[in-house]
Amino acid sequence: MQLEGSCHCGAVHFSLSSATPYPYQRCYCSICRKTQGGGGYAINIGGDAGSMKIRGRDNISIYHARLKEPGDKRAHASTAERHFCKRCGSALWLFSPEWPELIHPFASAIDTPLPVPPERVHLLLEFKAPWVEVEAKPHDKQFKGFPEESLAEWHERLGLTSAG
Ligand SMILES: [Zn+2]
Repeated sequence: MQLEGSCHCGAVHFSLSSATPYPYQRCYCSICRKTQGGGGYAINIGGDAGSMKIRGRDNISIYHARLKEPGDKRAHASTAERHFCKRCGSALWLFSPEWPELIHPFASAIDTPLPVPPERVHLLLEFKAPWVEVEAKPHDKQFKGFPEESLAEWHERLGLTSAG
């Protein structure tokens, strides 16, 4: 599926192809909540980094979250690059050098109508804010941490790989 995305002010536009366009993963971690997910979570989908085209690249800034694991003396910067528009603040996509072939756009930045997921995954609930209620439907799955099933495996299991 070909996806078009942009920030709110229009300074940044991007496009990429995606075999995993269903926005089913709701992430409740503090980074997603603070930088992007006002309702308590953010949703990333998966796309092909090689197909990525960007207009307005000069307007993009990158945030490396600082992480501190239990037992760590000091926080260290995450390798994950959170790309956002430095003019309007819209979160755009996440890129990890560990997976150079993948781009994870925020569903909120995508302008192409995305398919509605038949079921959802609620993840990193360990870090959920106390005021956030998980609105889980009957087939939804909930995880304290990360699910074992990847974006690609989820799409495959539900027979949604050729979507769009
Ligand atoms: Zn913008």
